[in-house]
Amino acid sequence: MRHFAVIGSGPAGFYTAEALAKTYGDSARIDIIDKLPVPYGLIRFGVAPDHQSIKAVARRYDKVAEGGTVRFLGNVAVGEAVSIDQLVDLYDAVILATGAPNDRTLGIPGEDLPGVIGSAAFVGWYNGHPDFAALDPLLDGEAAAIIGNGNVALDVARILSKTRAEFAGSDIVAHALDALEGSTIRTITIVGRRGPHQIAMSPKELGELGHLDVAVPHVELSDLPVAEADAVLDPGVRKSVAHLRDFAKARDDKPKHIKFDFFARPVAIEGEERAERLIVERTALGDDGQSVGTGEIYAIPANLIISCIGYQTPRIEGVPYDERGGRFANDGGLIGDGLYCVGWARRGPSGTIGTNRPDGYEVAAAIAGAVPASETNDKAGGAGLDALLAAKGVRATSFDDWRTIEAAEIAAARADAPREKLVNHADWLKVLGH
Ligand code: NAP
Repeated sequence: MRHFAVIGSGPAGFYTAEALAKTYGDSARIDIIDKLPVPYGLIRFGVAPDHQSIKAVARRYDKVAEGGTVRFLGNVAVGEAVSIDQLVDLYDAVILATGAPNDRTLGIPGEDLPGVIGSAAFVGWYNGHPDFAALDPLLDGEAAAIIGNGNVALDVARILSKTRAEFAGSDIVAHALDALEGSTIRTITIVGRRGPHQIAMSPKELGELGHLDVAVPHVELSDLPVAEADAVLDPGVRKSVAHLRDFAKARDDKPKHIKFDFFARPVAIEGEERAERLIVERTALGDDGQSVGTGEIYAIPANLIISCIGYQTPRIEGVPYDERGGRFANDGGLIGDGLYCVGWARRGPSGTIGTNRPDGYEVAAAIAGAVPASETNDKAGGAGLDALLAAKGVRATSFDDWRTIEAAEIAAARADAPREKLVNHADWLKVLGH
């Protein structure tokens, strides 16, 4: 029997567990360990609540957890309840699927002012992540600025722009829905340090901005390259740029405005007691395709500033780290003896949910090459972990516990939402009677 521990129950963790379960069949047991009592990581806490079709992929992960050879152990913080060294001793391979939940910082003056937050915090807040449930973002100003030209910037702009009615059918948490309804923000500026051809926004997500009830997107015609220049773009980017061209023609006839400000590099955030304006430098594209400052400085009024500039994997003591990439140092997923990584912890924060599937299968194949199926039980595996947690008084949650929590969330659903998420440890454990 072989024993594997996957740390993290997001997409990367589940696809890897699925691949290991298929590869080893009944000759392996796989534990998926998460520090939160509930599974799914990015699916539950990162994917936008109004994108339920993307969240539905969790049903596939349920099948993995219910397959007989895979266990879910929530409420187990690696580094606190159990160390990596202990896990490496207990299991034939330990796979870090810890994602990239930390915001990258802008590194500009004023970043610490109230009103300045990172997308991980804001997204976690509206998705009911316990670390951010009390974020209380400042929605009482007239203007917000969103830094970054990726899909997360689009999610954030859309969430700030929707009415309560437009969230029908989503699983946005009630505290966020109420706060957003009371928001006075009317102008949202999406700030990109490069131009329309360099955006990292998917066409479907960008197109959604053109169909909002009370907000209208706007692009300056002068920021767009001549239409013929779009011919060299990848088809996906070309479609996205076509949306930007439509936005340049859109009628400004709704009360909220989403303005795209391209070629603007943030250099400072200013304000007395809180953020009042984002200071940017006008840029141009350099020969290498990167942004180059022109020396022209101007201010974008904003009381709420949300940076959506990418994420980092949190360090784990003793695990080699790639500083530049913001992820674990690894070679094809291998970190060191018996220790692997997958997903964003391996590659950095890029790609879609589905990108994690081939990634997980590739690392599982590498593990299968290094750890042949065995009939002996050399490693203690899950039984060893259970004993260790019991000795420490740590009570792990099981997949059945998750089902109990899920049922409680569904029972508490609002009229227009499929569930009302529980957002902190105390509520989760209360439902379980722990
Ligand atoms: P991203 O796609 O890497 O975009 C980050 C953006 O931030 C880029 O426009 C980048 O500009 C900009 N940026 C980085 N550092 C900056 C700085 N110091 N100052 C100003 N701008 C800066 O990251 P993301 O939006 O966080 O998304 C992460 C991944 O999740 C992506 O693969 C994304 O597609 C995916 N995602 C998908 C969906 C969906 O499919 N619905 C939703 C959300 C996220 P440069 O290009 O100039 O570096």
